[in-house]
Amino acid sequence: MLDTEEKKIVDEVLEDFAAIAAIPRPSLHEKAVSDYLLGVFQSLGCDVRQDAANNIIADRAASPGYESVPRVILQAHMDMVCVAAKGVKYDPLRDPIRLCRTEDELSAEGTSLGADDGAGIALILYVFRHAENVGPLRAIITTDEETGMSGAQALDAKAFSDADFLINWDSENFDELTRGCAGCVGVDFRRKLHCCDPMMPQAWCISVSGLLGGHSGERIGDGRGNAIRILAQTLHALKNAGVSFSVASIKGGSARNAIAAKAEAVIVTQSRQEEVSRVISELEQHVRTVFGNVDPGISINLSEAEMPAQVMEDSDMEALTDALLLLHTGVFQMSPTMPGLVETSANLGLLRTERSGVWFSYFARSSVDEKLGEIADACRILGMRLGLEVSVATPAPGWRERPQSALSDMMAAIFEEQNGRPMKVGVIHAGLECGWHIRKAPNLDMVSIGVTNRNIHSPKETLDLTTVAPQIRLVMETLHRIAKTK
Ligand SMILES: [Zn+2]
Repeated sequence: MLDTEEKKIVDEVLEDFAAIAAIPRPSLHEKAVSDYLLGVFQSLGCDVRQDAANNIIADRAASPGYESVPRVILQAHMDMVCVAAKGVKYDPLRDPIRLCRTEDELSAEGTSLGADDGAGIALILYVFRHAENVGPLRAIITTDEETGMSGAQALDAKAFSDADFLINWDSENFDELTRGCAGCVGVDFRRKLHCCDPMMPQAWCISVSGLLGGHSGERIGDGRGNAIRILAQTLHALKNAGVSFSVASIKGGSARNAIAAKAEAVIVTQSRQEEVSRVISELEQHVRTVFGNVDPGISINLSEAEMPAQVMEDSDMEALTDALLLLHTGVFQMSPTMPGLVETSANLGLLRTERSGVWFSYFARSSVDEKLGEIADACRILGMRLGLEVSVATPAPGWRERPQSALSDMMAAIFEEQNGRPMKVGVIHAGLECGWHIRKAPNLDMVSIGVTNRNIHSPKETLDLTTVAPQIRLVMETLHRIAKTK
């Protein structure tokens, strides 16, 4: 339950949130929301700039007498992941988000809510409207955080000039403060297919399912199975057992940054069903032994399929399965200094058969940028050897933890004073825009925080409104203490 003062804060934050939610803002379509924010910050008397990437940089002058206090940057992103529940009609380019509020929670009707990171923007606006007796503030609201961080990448180094501190307001747990993150690199492998007629009488679908999947940063350390890799193992086992078959199509996974939970292949064969089934159930047993404790629901099934018009040549199938088997998925290395933290990992996220050929994505993360380069090199060599085209995306840099962070220490202490329990302070094995910021401003003292927001990037996204007022108190008190240091 919210008390009267908390309710007042929540209502006002939600007024700004609702205005932003009314403007469609999928990644790379942010011009309208960027223009809107430009106007709002202007109306608050800020000195505002909109750059070529539609990022907004807004300066709020210090309270009188606090001009010499170091500047604090508050940062959020304006784009959102737009997804709808099955059966819900939703055009992310045209339709506003329809909000659904109870006393303590905010969600959307049938779609993602966009509290990632609309909540960050609304909280920044609240601070800009109400902060008193504080030094100069700057809001940086970026574009395209969700698909490539191209907004953060495009920010001018000037956006960080004359600032000592930055609070990135894009995390999902009120109790947590992040002071370092991993970098990442996406690699796509592609092969043009040479197709031929299916010369065998029977078509089957092999499907791998029942896996837990999950976010490839947060969950990779759990050692879960990857359905794409298990499917490749299945095809390899069939070949080793002397089953004669060809693959017509193959697909798996739901996103680059999700551990593949499902995968399937359509094959044609002249071998008897019992023979195919026997190999598959042996492999299923093998996989259950490997993942039994952590991913107990794995199953590999065989079902009848429609006869496909064409199949790929054996050389295509072999190149593909060899690559999928040779690319390591999961943890490469745990952090040698931080117990329990994954330092380097990789994931097979998407596999698709299209008219032009077959392709799959490989996505690596590391808190050591150099290791991303090593993995990208290994991918290039593998592609060359196996006859697959390889394209490596621009790596997103990691944010290495500073030995000393006055901001992190101060905020954790205030959190504990205000909430009577310690704040969890740590480093995450996932990406944040801070990796780009620190390249341009190596001396900036940064943290990442956020109100509690559950099931992000899904139609079940739900913002916990009980964390809004306490987080405003945390940030306001932080600004006041920074103001007192001068
Ligand atoms: Zn976000």
